[in-house]
Amino acid sequence: MNGKVALVTGASSGIGLATAERLVGAGFTVYGTSRRGAAAAKAAFEMLALDVTSDASVEAVVGDVLRRAGRIDLLVNNAGFGVGLAGDEESSVAQAQAIFDTNFFGTVRMTRAVVPHMRRQGAGRILNMGSGLGIAPMPYMAIYSASKHALEGYSESLDHELRTRGVRVVVIEPYVTKTPFDANLLEPDAKIDAYEATRAALNKRYLEVVAAGDAPEAVAAVVLKAATAARPKLRYPVGRVSTLQLLRRFAPWLVDAGIRKDLRLDARIAASSGVKP
Ligand code: NDP
Repeated sequence: MNGKVALVTGASSGIGLATAERLVGAGFTVYGTSRRGAAAAKAAFEMLALDVTSDASVEAVVGDVLRRAGRIDLLVNNAGFGVGLAGDEESSVAQAQAIFDTNFFGTVRMTRAVVPHMRRQGAGRILNMGSGLGIAPMPYMAIYSASKHALEGYSESLDHELRTRGVRVVVIEPYVTKTPFDANLLEPDAKIDAYEATRAALNKRYLEVVAAGDAPEAVAAVVLKAATAARPKLRYPVGRVSTLQLLRRFAPWLVDAGIRKDLRLDARIAASSGVKP
């Protein structure tokens, strides 16, 4: 991959950092980004300041990489965050829009800034960081899950548009991964007392699941595979997401029942409302 240039958003920690390092190891010239720029981390790659929610910031960083490296072969749209587990009505519309502004429109902004260049080049690859929650629902994280579902539809549509121009669009679908993601979850900004007990119990359960999650390096290995495959697939599930995909397609009732059972949704709601499940 010597001479190939990669731009990785959200490379200051977690999956983005592991991905950028893996790409450096494979011979890519890597530009990573963080809202804090070079101050974010001592890295084996150049770190640039970028806020994916700002059109001006996106234009500036893509222009900067093109000026310095002369090309972009690979864009990894990885920057993202969520709100801690909470009832959907416990987040204001403004907070819901903020999640979409980074997770979905951040990807759209970056993609639109890079595509004209890749189109002229006649080659390029765009990897969008989806999630298992982009193919299955996640109660009490509905907006985050919706933002990842949106990425699926966007990526698949765009791949059809760009394939004949030499540009491929791919979704990486990690399972729960041990990163600072949970520490960076926003507090819901419109808390409702009736959800208090459920919210506390689900957040506790979530931390247990994260502790048993995949290492970010496992996702980075899949990213490298998707970045270098001669004929990339549209979707790259990581770890248990492959099983989830199969169940979702062939036994969706098992996914429905499994989510309710794992999160003890019927028992919890019965306990807080006094209604028997
Ligand atoms: P981290 O919190 O470790 O990383 C998130 C990264 O996104 C940081 O580098 C952060 O950079 C960056 N970021 C956040 N907001 C912005 C913004 N507005 N502009 C630019 N950069 C931003 O979490 P993960 O590594 O876990 O998450 C990476 C991606 O993986 C996300 O898209 C997440 O949804 C997805 N994912 C995570 C899973 C998990 O279980 N951890 C599972 C499935 C998918 P900085 O704060 O320095 O600006």
